[in-house]
Amino acid sequence: MLLRRLKDRVVQSEPDRIRCIATSATIGRGREDFPAVVRFANELFGERFEWLEDDEQRQDVVEAEREPETALGECWGSGSIELYAGLSAAIQEKRGLGELCQIAIEAGIPQTIVQDAQQQANQAVGAKQERRLLHLLLRGDGRVHRLRNLLKSPRELVTLPPEVFPEQPDDPEPLVQLIDLAVRAKHDADEAPLLPTRYHLFARALEGAFVCLNQDAHKQDEPFLFLSRQENCPHCKAQIFELAACPRCGSAYIVGRDQRDGAQRALRQSSTVGDDPKGKLAYFILTDQIQLPDEDEAVVAEQSMESMDEESVEPYTLCLGCGSLAHGKDASISCQCPAQFPHLTVYRVELKENESALSRCVACGARRTQHLSLIHI
Ligand SMILES: [Zn+2]
Ligand SMILES: [Zn+2]
Ligand SMILES: [Zn+2]
Repeated sequence: MLLRRLKDRVVQSEPDRIRCIATSATIGRGREDFPAVVRFANELFGERFEWLEDDEQRQDVVEAEREPETALGECWGSGSIELYAGLSAAIQEKRGLGELCQIAIEAGIPQTIVQDAQQQANQAVGAKQERRLLHLLLRGDGRVHRLRNLLKSPRELVTLPPEVFPEQPDDPEPLVQLIDLAVRAKHDADEAPLLPTRYHLFARALEGAFVCLNQDAHKQDEPFLFLSRQENCPHCKAQIFELAACPRCGSAYIVGRDQRDGAQRALRQSSTVGDDPKGKLAYFILTDQIQLPDEDEAVVAEQSMESMDEESVEPYTLCLGCGSLAHGKDASISCQCPAQFPHLTVYRVELKENESALSRCVACGARRTQHLSLIHI
């Protein structure tokens, strides 16, 4: 839409007058996708893009080509771990070309290479000197050649040190320093760096937080909080409950569906009983967190008692082994769980008639608004 508007304002949408160039590192898997790539560009820009296999004049897709390692020239040997550490520190402290060259010579880079690099670097201007020097020093480094070769396809960082630094396979630091230096190394401003490397970090949204409330039965190093969904505790086999938290005070609720099967009731994770759009979620708060609204607070908050009293809490007894529920404090539960699974009193927050999820934290009074929602962790 913006492109169309721009073309309209600049050339009254007349085709073939603006030269459109697009770059992408992710579109297409190679030559076989070029027809699809030009179709995409046609649609995106509303301009003519072509790819004709047999007509070099009508090929609008420019393919990346890998420069072979031999283009880097002869290797003078391999840099040492001290070389990379020394160069990194000197660059950080902006110690200048002379000192970088000194470090290179002390670390064993042949004197002729260093002298030649210094001479050529001196012809560049300002900060480009340092980049050119690094390029000239490191392009003949056997480790850079090896690394370039290994990075023909993406690699996990931790798998590389044993192949690039076999003498120190468990320490990623020299590798990270070498990569930083090689990314900085550039002969000219408009050229690619010696190693055009990027780090990619993958983040995954949390599925939720899940808790075993039978933590007294756990050994000290056995966790009771899990960040992936599970139904039974791997340590004590108790039922796992899903946690929700108030974003303001951090109070934890266990949340699920109150499933009834005849006289039996049980609290289940909402996902394990299927999605029931009409089914209400049930929220339980642990005893020590309850703070029932009192009149003073209502006055301070300039709210009427009616609005403070909308939710009420009801005690329930919960079997930590199987999730069975019974109304009332210390109520009897007729489940088959062995005695090591205790019963716990929890307080259910009664939702209003038209609510399907909790809208107010009973511990701190925070309300769900546009900016404040009671979220699953
Ligand atoms: Zn457990
Ligand atoms: Zn039970
Ligand atoms: Zn709260």
